[in-house]
Amino acid sequence: MRLSWAALAVCVPVFAAPTPPDKLTGPQPWLESSQQPAGDRVGQCAFDGDDTTSYKSAGPAKSGDTLTVELSEPVAVKELAVLTGEADGSAKLAAGALEVSVDGKAWEDVAKVDAGTAKTKLDGRQVKALRLKVTADGTDPLVVRELWLSSTPAVPRYSYPLDLLVDCQAADLKDWSVGMRRTVMTWWPFFCEMLASDGYRPARRIDMDIKEQDGVAATGGTHITGSAQWFRAHRDDVGAMIHESIHVIQHYPRYDPVWLVEGITDWARWWNYETLGHRPKPRPGGSYRDSYQRTGAFLDWIETHRAPGLTVKLSTAMRRNQYSPDVWARWTGADLDTLWAEYQASFAK
Ligand SMILES: [Zn+2]
Repeated sequence: MRLSWAALAVCVPVFAAPTPPDKLTGPQPWLESSQQPAGDRVGQCAFDGDDTTSYKSAGPAKSGDTLTVELSEPVAVKELAVLTGEADGSAKLAAGALEVSVDGKAWEDVAKVDAGTAKTKLDGRQVKALRLKVTADGTDPLVVRELWLSSTPAVPRYSYPLDLLVDCQAADLKDWSVGMRRTVMTWWPFFCEMLASDGYRPARRIDMDIKEQDGVAATGGTHITGSAQWFRAHRDDVGAMIHESIHVIQHYPRYDPVWLVEGITDWARWWNYETLGHRPKPRPGGSYRDSYQRTGAFLDWIETHRAPGLTVKLSTAMRRNQYSPDVWARWTGADLDTLWAEYQASFAK
């Protein structure tokens, strides 16, 4: 059977509606590019089931450059292919090979790139990792429109391609930052799916600096900064970076009302990502305007007792600049102060 690029768009599975990454079953991909991407043309764009999006390296393709997909478990591969170069036919890879590995360490060349593409049949061979390897220096960047594999079981493609580029300026936090990056990137599709709204596509690239500074972490647009002091003392607080990545997904035009923006973010973090034992226990008192965990706990109470799905509706309204205080009554049947009074009363029960 010949491989058909046209079939690509219809035959690839996508991540189902949010399943937490620790509950996903079957093989999961982990993609790395040896070179940083040009702009937001990140590596995962080459494994998203869409050959109109592509990875592009920041610099010219160099011998030894790779785009690697490692799988969480081996699969039986029937066919494997790669399509390189821009849609207009430029920047096709001149010299490269498709390689596979049974253990992610030792590699075997299974197909040579010819006229920018490579295809091969593997007849059900067990594969744990595959990669495209550049075999001669070029002058064009490496552009990969799609890596394609047909396997049993099937491997899901990236529904929300992302690269998180971490510049960790604290030598003692380098190892920590590698694990943190992997956790944030692994949870990214879950939060993108959870906070999805029609016509909205989340960013594909986040740049993060970890440096000596006060505070915990902050986000502006697609740029996150984290405090080395904080994470040195709180290595288990990866959730703080999850919180910041959720701000990137929110992409609200206004940071207003602040308490609601931060409440939605902390609800998403604490009541979805964090384990039950790590989650703050809701306490009475304060105000819904307290932001963060207090507002997040209030949102969770409304979700549970009044209006399931409210938080995502609020998030969509905020993203569209359509939030107003009257949405509470419209979507829950009670205004904000009444809801808060009910929530407070619930602690007495
Ligand atoms: Zn925040």
